[in-house]
Amino acid sequence: MSDSEFTPGQLKVITYPHPGLRHIAKPIKRVDATLKRIAARMIELMYQHRGVGLAATQVNLPIRMFVWDPTGNPEKGQPAVYLNPTITRPRSNEEAEEGCLSIPGVNSNVVRAKTIHLHAFDIQGREIDTDLSGYEARIRQHETDHLDGVLFIDRLSPAQIRDHDNELAILETEFQSRQRMGELPTDDQVKEELLAWERRYC
Ligand SMILES: [Zn+2]
Repeated sequence: MSDSEFTPGQLKVITYPHPGLRHIAKPIKRVDATLKRIAARMIELMYQHRGVGLAATQVNLPIRMFVWDPTGNPEKGQPAVYLNPTITRPRSNEEAEEGCLSIPGVNSNVVRAKTIHLHAFDIQGREIDTDLSGYEARIRQHETDHLDGVLFIDRLSPAQIRDHDNELAILETEFQSRQRMGELPTDDQVKEELLAWERRYC
């Protein structure tokens, strides 16, 4: 992937059932100017879509990075970038409603650890080592799940999934027809693109 053919402005939020959402992202081994611009573009997309977090896999990049701002407000918020996050020490459970920019129109309660420990690096390479709870812990778990190819709908009970069968089927049909029309890349094209990014950063 050469810089002459790529600009971060081309990145878009991909939606279910795009195969990029199921790709397991790899740890980032190098940070360059383009990666910093990608992070800035992800923050811009997160605000545009009124989200509070966005993982690299959601813009079809197979690298372990997510951005977040719990306020979702570009005027007031302080967006942060997390590289190579790992979550440990999950303690007790809590249920709360979640949605996802990659699964528009679907919201449901998800059980997650109430408190976690998060280790990561920021875009400057500084270490982040912190205990989190509640909403702050929840968003980080949702975004780290994305980097493992896991979506919040995977964590729903069969009864909850049944409630959303229709919406998910509509997204699937729409995606497949856009793929057939050539408006979206084929699964093989997606795979090739992901490999090029892995060679560059992982
Ligand atoms: Zn999500």
